[in-house]
Amino acid sequence: MKVVKFGGSSLACGETFQRVKNIITADPARSVVVVSAPGKRFSGDTKVTDLLYVCHSHIRYKVSFDDMWEDVAGRYREIVKTCGLSDNIEQYLDEVRESMTRSASIDDIVSRGEYLNARLMAEYLGYDFVDAKEWLHFNYDGTVDYEGTYQSLRELYAKHPHMVLPGFYGTLPDGKLHVFSRGGSDVTGALAAAALSAESYENWTDVSGIMMADPKIVDNPKIINRITFSEMRELSYMGAEVLHQETVFPVRQANIPLYIKNTNAPEDPGTLIMESFTDEDGDESTHFITGITGKKHYSIITISKTSMTDDISFVRRVLEVTEKYNLTVEHIPSSVDSFSLVIATKALSGCLHALIADIQSQCNPDTVKVCDGIGLVAVVGRRMAGAPGVSGKIFGTLGERGINIRMVEQGSDEINIIVGVEEADFITTIQTLYNSFT
Ligand code: ASP
Repeated sequence: MKVVKFGGSSLACGETFQRVKNIITADPARSVVVVSAPGKRFSGDTKVTDLLYVCHSHIRYKVSFDDMWEDVAGRYREIVKTCGLSDNIEQYLDEVRESMTRSASIDDIVSRGEYLNARLMAEYLGYDFVDAKEWLHFNYDGTVDYEGTYQSLRELYAKHPHMVLPGFYGTLPDGKLHVFSRGGSDVTGALAAAALSAESYENWTDVSGIMMADPKIVDNPKIINRITFSEMRELSYMGAEVLHQETVFPVRQANIPLYIKNTNAPEDPGTLIMESFTDEDGDESTHFITGITGKKHYSIITISKTSMTDDISFVRRVLEVTEKYNLTVEHIPSSVDSFSLVIATKALSGCLHALIADIQSQCNPDTVKVCDGIGLVAVVGRRMAGAPGVSGKIFGTLGERGINIRMVEQGSDEINIIVGVEEADFITTIQTLYNSFT
């Protein structure tokens, strides 16, 4: 059995609904389906979830939301018409609209996009509709109650071997609805796959997989065929938008292969994400590196003190100061008599001067220097581990292009190398590295 999740662009209108049905019926194992709300049909269009957020604001400020609601209802009516579904939708729409005029919470309201889409998809496929409120349980702090969630879905699956589940929401212990952060249907699908020990979790979207680099920086980047969960974590932490970040945990823990596939090109192989790959020795089809990504707007604060290594509490004391200001220190490259803190510039705004004053008074360094305008670029690849010469190639290639490297860092598992460069060199750095490794 496979769990399949379709994102908003795959379910934006009647025509894409038909495409989705073809994909599901092409493989009988695709028996548990998770849906998002209708997304954008074209660039400049508005997602139903966004319309619902606006409905909520209108209600809150006691402004009529009739026009906005008609836009929402119209999206579902078009799907019903194009797919030849029954007019049950009118009853669901009336119920939802009516609940919105009572004191529905923001989470109640925005969750209805997925709810209505799941109702329609269930009818269209002839599968059972199973409401997320029956099985996806949150704790009061908004974290998922994994055990309760898995148990409930297993019981439901025994009664509904073919089901459509709305993504994005679940219930708190008091029964109130609660939603994930945006894009959370990815997580719903991962939880369903883990609960049911699915053979795989297929995440269907509008691209043919994860790209090796940002298409806004590199022209037509190649698709990554295979990537490990750790590599994906590195890439997304450093800026590549892939899946909702909570998606990985359930499938990784249950060791379920995760595919990213394209609803508009179902025959494309997509990207396969797994814990590890054991069959790649000598495989030339996989690139030496998996992907390149990066983030701009970093500051480097360099703290120097002669004989720093003799003062064993020095680094701790500095970090205590950054902790006081609640700062995330992303990297700490060091030399004998100095070390640097790499911190997002935005996080420092409003506290930089106080921070430096505190470091000076509490840690007594020789100097503290701040340098802004740094971009971090990460080269990620499991095949770099144990392979001599990769960092040499990175430095050599960038050196030939006249790009000065301000900082270097490599994790000891050797799956990533991060270089800090001037922001003016950020794009050229990514392009140069992409070209030299592909
Ligand atoms: N519809 C929600 C959103 O737009 C959740 C999702 O699509 O995953 O964020």
